[in-house]
Amino acid sequence: LPPKRSKKEELVKRSQCIGSKCQIFYKDDPLMVSRASMQYVYDEFGHRYLDCISNVQHVGHCHPTVVESISKQLATSTCNVRFVSSQLTDCAEQILATLPGLDTVLFCNSGSEANDLALRLARDFSKHTDAIVVDHAYHGHVTTTMEMSPYKFDHGSSVKQPEWCHVTPCPDVYRGKIRLSDADLHDKEKLKEAGVKYAEYVKEIIDEAVTKKRSVAAFFSEALQSCGGQVIPPETYFPTVAKHIHGHGGVVVIDEVQTGFGRVGSTFWAHQVNGEGFVPDIVTMGKPMGNGFPVSAVVTRKEIADTLGGSVGYFNTYGGNPVACAAVLGVLKVIKEENLLQHSEDMGAEFKNALTALKEKHECIGDVRGLGQFWGVDLVKSRETREPDTKLALALILKLRQERDILLNADGPHENILKFKPPLCFNKENLHEAVSALDVALTQMGH
Ligand code: PMP
Repeated sequence: LPPKRSKKEELVKRSQCIGSKCQIFYKDDPLMVSRASMQYVYDEFGHRYLDCISNVQHVGHCHPTVVESISKQLATSTCNVRFVSSQLTDCAEQILATLPGLDTVLFCNSGSEANDLALRLARDFSKHTDAIVVDHAYHGHVTTTMEMSPYKFDHGSSVKQPEWCHVTPCPDVYRGKIRLSDADLHDKEKLKEAGVKYAEYVKEIIDEAVTKKRSVAAFFSEALQSCGGQVIPPETYFPTVAKHIHGHGGVVVIDEVQTGFGRVGSTFWAHQVNGEGFVPDIVTMGKPMGNGFPVSAVVTRKEIADTLGGSVGYFNTYGGNPVACAAVLGVLKVIKEENLLQHSEDMGAEFKNALTALKEKHECIGDVRGLGQFWGVDLVKSRETREPDTKLALALILKLRQERDILLNADGPHENILKFKPPLCFNKENLHEAVSALDVALTQMGH
């Protein structure tokens, strides 16, 4: 179908009726999408782009199984959660099967809502007040989660860091407070040591809070930091933090909004990659679980969930509605039927090889890191100083889109990290197309 309006007309209308602060990809030359399918999106002329960034459309844009599941339920009932529905319990049971140690699900509609609810659960359970978050973290756009997101409050937001929110250094061994040399970046023992040291900062914050007569309800962290720059914490980090937090009577909340549902391949959740030794008290999830349909959840233990809200209980008009649950059930079905965990794991090995070879060729790549289909390419002005090269990252993503029809994003506190987090159907050919386009672009740009 021809577009209803040209992109130019659409942008004029948009500027007249949509909030001027609503973010848009490729601000200087936005992309108008007419349709999308699996790992491809199409502009208003039907021109195809390879999507390396849409982790929400987790099993593929408009995957037919998910579309069918949603459509069927949409035509059957859309009742809210105060009515009993087997969609809700089926969905909860299937999610819980992936999270040993947790037994209770509360549904919401977005990642922000899930993290806000997790904070309330942590406070009601522990009877404490404060939260510790990781530097550069992003946990959502509602006021409380903005107050827990250094990614926002340290970057010009009108919402400021409140007294109850404490920031601990990001366990980033490449660019963080405790750094490893290039030679040690993959040394298991050095990584373990760094993880324990990073966890010490959390202990210090707890101790300081106590001396000020404050109390910490929760430690919040993304399983792998995404907006903060595709950071993979050392394997000792979460278990050591958990010891400190539990010793104080608080809970550990792991935000899997970006990283769950098999993105990392070897396990269903990213916090599980180092084995069963670490079980969070609360896990929040969102984006991929509905493949684009809004749905999120908080998963915890019954003893925590039972403390929520005093006598007023929990009600959320759309949270866990049958259509949202049908979307989740559709996604889970596809993950199983298409063996997507194995595919992500295989792709992880491909990513590692392809990006490491790219790094060997181009001095401007300081580090490549990731798991499964979640990777970052850290662009630097100098490998020695690791000074971020923001300008290069932004120029690259625009060039790749305009000249090679490839959608890639740059993120991190310095916007210098190229982010790969494609729909899971992204395959080896797609990866090699993207990496060879990057190779050519970097060479053309003199890097
Ligand atoms: N947590 C993380 C880690 C996120 O990346 C995001 C969204 N980028 C959120 C929470 C908020 O989710 P939503 O936009 O669905 O509210």
